[in-house]
Amino acid sequence: PRQALLGPAEIRDLAELLGVTPTKKLGQNFVHDGNTVRRIVQLAGVQPGETVLEIGPGLGSLTLGLTEAGADVIAVEIDGRLAEQLPKTAELLQPGAALRVVHQDALRVTELPGDPVRLVANLPYNVSVPVLLHLLEHFPSLRAGIVMVQAEVGHRLAAGPGSKVYGAPSVKAAWYGDWRIAGQVSRQVFWPVPNVDSVLVGFERDAEPGTEAERRATFELVDAGFQQRRKMLRQALSGVLGGSAAEASAVLERAGVDPQARGEQLGMPDFLAIARARGAAGD
Ligand code: SAM
Repeated sequence: PRQALLGPAEIRDLAELLGVTPTKKLGQNFVHDGNTVRRIVQLAGVQPGETVLEIGPGLGSLTLGLTEAGADVIAVEIDGRLAEQLPKTAELLQPGAALRVVHQDALRVTELPGDPVRLVANLPYNVSVPVLLHLLEHFPSLRAGIVMVQAEVGHRLAAGPGSKVYGAPSVKAAWYGDWRIAGQVSRQVFWPVPNVDSVLVGFERDAEPGTEAERRATFELVDAGFQQRRKMLRQALSGVLGGSAAEASAVLERAGVDPQARGEQLGMPDFLAIARARGAAGD
């Protein structure tokens, strides 16, 4: 059954009631279009009774779409005024909705009141990649998700080696599973209207390809490899592979990676192979 969602008038009224002026610092752009909300919930494949994690619920636009679909929602919001109002808004518009609000910084949250299987969120754009990586690291129960992010960030998350936008976030994201662009979203559905384009990104989690120690080692190599993306790997990784280009070359050769290649040509499994080759050398 269709239930109440937030339109432009409700968003404006709630913001006024709370005395909230959306801030850029917290990436506060609120969706005021029910069709967009229902499209996101449908793309996410939310099932009734399923525990869903939402980051940055704001005034509750997406939250109410999720509860409408029968999800059991855990919402993490950093802004105290918004976190305090959200249960009241939900109770008013969808009495009995299954919602727990956690007033916390999503970058610091390590415990939740439940084990969410799906992430559905319109992320704060300035921290979307760190938030995603933090959640995937700390909440293994998350199996899949749909997130709205700045278009450039979305394309980077979904990129593979050889793509112009391929970078450290692409490789780190690939550690956790498969990522794809799931759709575009018009700027006009937000208040205030943002000055960047948005896309929806979907992910499906896979078994992690290595241990936690190997993940850390791989991410360290990825950061070093992309910090100097124009340099050959034997140079870019010399600092983390023994100190000299010659030592780095030896490790790269053991890993089956061309020492003259550049970071942007390597896939996640290559970086993992380098981490393992270094480990085997005992340093
Ligand atoms: N989900 C709402 C919607 O679609 O209308 C709001 C989305 S708005 C783009 C991002 C939200 O994330 C804001 O409510 C903001 O206060 C919140 N936020 C920003 N940084 C955060 C953080 N580090 N942890 C949790 N929430 C955060």
